[in-house]
Amino acid sequence: MNALDAPQTSLEIEYDAPIPTWFGIGGKADRLARPCSLDRLAECIRLDPNLRILGDGANLLVDDEGVAELVVVLEGPTFRGWTFDATRLRAGAGANLPKLINETVRRGLAGIESLGGIPASVGGAVIMNAGGAFGQIADAVARIHALDRQGRSVTLDRPRIAFDYRHSGLGNLIITEVEFNLSPADPASLRARHLEVMAYKSKTQPMAEKSAGCVFKNPTLTEDLTLESTDPGAPKPHEVHRAGSRVSAGMLIDRAGLKGLRVGGASVSPRHGNFIVTDAGACARDVIELMDRVALGVFARFGVTLHPEVVIWRRTK
Ligand SMILES: Cc1cc2nc3c(=O)[nH]c(=O)nc-3n(C[C@H](O)[C@H](O)[C@H](O)COP(=O)(O)OP(=O)(O)OC[C@H]3O[C@@H](n4cnc5c(N)ncnc54)[C@H](O)[C@@H]3O)c2cc1C
Repeated sequence: MNALDAPQTSLEIEYDAPIPTWFGIGGKADRLARPCSLDRLAECIRLDPNLRILGDGANLLVDDEGVAELVVVLEGPTFRGWTFDATRLRAGAGANLPKLINETVRRGLAGIESLGGIPASVGGAVIMNAGGAFGQIADAVARIHALDRQGRSVTLDRPRIAFDYRHSGLGNLIITEVEFNLSPADPASLRARHLEVMAYKSKTQPMAEKSAGCVFKNPTLTEDLTLESTDPGAPKPHEVHRAGSRVSAGMLIDRAGLKGLRVGGASVSPRHGNFIVTDAGACARDVIELMDRVALGVFARFGVTLHPEVVIWRRTK
């Protein structure tokens, strides 16, 4: 769509705008807006109720054709700021999570330091229920504020949010603000804990490369899975993972011999099987095809289906 075809609005719209993501590849937005207030965001919803919110772009792959829906980036102090009231933290959905964590650690307030090293906006982290070996964001969320697709305000307390593993059930809402319950902690031990979490991440994951973190969710097994032990000194030659347990997708990808597999400019990281990393010249199609091949490889080897964790935006019209 060009400027002449666009419906009347006082919003500033950027046309054919790049969509920055951590993969560093992918198509553009036909239209992009940067509202700084709830009124402006409501205007965006009136313009396109199917709009897509771009957070930090850390869990996002945009297909090469880009998207027709209005892409919205939450900006300004309303959406990027935060305030503390004793142990209650209110943060705009566009606030940068790593910076916010640094601030809570500096103030000696515990609750979100276990998410250290995860690139995200607050809204994106809550939508995805981001987390890892040390905890998940749901553990600290007290309440969310959002707009629905009709522009109505919605407030949900924690017990009404269906958080699950990398899932919030909030997908159709536009999160505008999140309240967290934190607790006072000894600043020195909190800082040590935060550093420990970040050190673990950079030791086990290719943090400096272009990726979207883990591309697949860790699957829950529907049947027992017996794997040969990789440790020659292990007491048993096999390890059994029971039906109903969640196993590491990265471990399955590794055991299926898929580390290093490449399609065009996208490859499975040799450091972490669940990370797909991109080189200069990669396109979104390379990543999508590689994801398909990896999922097929794991299914062929272990009969386990992998589901994407990364969100893929595709052109629908
Ligand atoms: C190097 C690296 C390491 C990572 N490690 C981890 C990890 O350890 N654990 C983990 O869980 N994830 C990890 N990730 C993935 C990513 O950091 C998380 O999924 C994060 O929560 C994504 O947040 P975002 O703001 O970037 O969301 P985006 O990628 O911008 O968007 C993701 C989805 O959330 C939606 N969304 C974003 N903001 C809003 C909002 N305000 N309202 C409604 N919908 C919204 C988007 O529309 C999209 O559907 C990693 C990624 C990278 C690149």
